[in-house]
Amino acid sequence: MNLQRGDLLRVVVVGGGIGGAELVRNAATKEGLELVLVEPKERIECQALYPDYLGGKVEIEDMTAPLDPFCRKMNVAHAKDRATRIDLDDKRITCEKNDLDYDLLVLAPGAVQNYFGVEGAERAFSINTLEDTVKARRFVEKSRPKRIAIIGSGPTGIETACFLAENTSSAIFVVEMMDRLLPTLSRNASILMEKVLGGKGVEVLTNKQVRSIREGGVTFVDGESLDCEMTIWTAGIRPAPLIESLDLPKRSGWLLCDQYLRVQGREDVFAIGDCAWIEIGGKLATKTGMEAEIQAKHTARNLARVAKGTDLKPYSIRASTESPVALITTGCGCAVGIYGDLCVPIPKRIIYTFKSWIDKSFVRRFK
Ligand SMILES: Cc1cc2nc3c(=O)[nH]c(=O)nc-3n(C[C@H](O)[C@H](O)[C@H](O)COP(=O)(O)OP(=O)(O)OC[C@H]3O[C@@H](n4cnc5c(N)ncnc54)[C@H](O)[C@@H]3O)c2cc1C
Repeated sequence: MNLQRGDLLRVVVVGGGIGGAELVRNAATKEGLELVLVEPKERIECQALYPDYLGGKVEIEDMTAPLDPFCRKMNVAHAKDRATRIDLDDKRITCEKNDLDYDLLVLAPGAVQNYFGVEGAERAFSINTLEDTVKARRFVEKSRPKRIAIIGSGPTGIETACFLAENTSSAIFVVEMMDRLLPTLSRNASILMEKVLGGKGVEVLTNKQVRSIREGGVTFVDGESLDCEMTIWTAGIRPAPLIESLDLPKRSGWLLCDQYLRVQGREDVFAIGDCAWIEIGGKLATKTGMEAEIQAKHTARNLARVAKGTDLKPYSIRASTESPVALITTGCGCAVGIYGDLCVPIPKRIIYTFKSWIDKSFVRRFK
């Protein structure tokens, strides 16, 4: 199959978050490729630092880098635009402002918050985007809510609870639908985190499914309710709307990839990061920044192989759902490290220093 139209392979990358930006950074130095990045935002953002920002520990400059100077430095065109439709037969992307043609397409538009149809949930605060996190921090600082409910006890919910417990005098509640905290991680991690949150005075409510969110509180499916002046929704993500609109193979809504991180059945469409379902050798890739970054580097090398006409190399998953890796900040300058069933017995300063270094150095490499 001849993928190329001109002298260079025109690669359009949709989404300049962790996966897309890292792919561009790595692919820009490869021969035979002409890169275009489609990203409506002006800055590359490191979501891993949003809870720190909410707690007032970092500022916007620490967790973002401007996209235009980076693209200029890498000699990559930045279309400050949002892709709305993709014609896979004509290899044409319709954006809000302009249309673009491609030889190869890399989809990296990430995910958006999933409210699972819970009544009133979209009115809750969220820390899934920078704008939402800025709004949440302003509310905390100005309104000083007495009681804050955090819905969802994944790593984001836990970090949010720890930062708010450390930096406010609010009563903090963590609400989890399952029977334990951190339900996607090991039981050891749940036990450790229960102790950590207990030590900070955070109240944990497990087996509590939210039925609706109203001003002033949360109502549960079992009929009970929790009064609070602020509710922060951290429970779950779904694919970006663009992915939902594409007629491509999917699993649970995510783009189904082959071992080369191409969308199944397509030689010209790659998918990386949160938007992709990557299952190789019985392992399923986690939706984390760490995985998105490694997938991006691998895909950049494979794009160069397509340009050279050599065979693609299969991807090997690093952080899978069966042995997930997580560094979770617990406030007071400490964090815990979890790898599969293993976790450190108490939060450590050195782990926070390491996590903070990873997150901030991701941002620095684009400056
Ligand atoms: C609060 C929070 C904390 C987290 N903490 C950690 C952590 O500590 N460690 C970790 O490994 N992971 C963490 N994650 C997960 C990590 O941030 C994601 O897995 C990672 O960002 C996924 O990268 P991505 O490139 O797929 O998507 P994103 O980084 O979300 O980037 C997607 C980009 O695509 C753009 N886009 C969307 N639609 C379109 C369109 N139609 N056209 C053009 N552009 C589009 C968006 O504007 C965005 O910039 C955290 C996530 C959150 C929300």
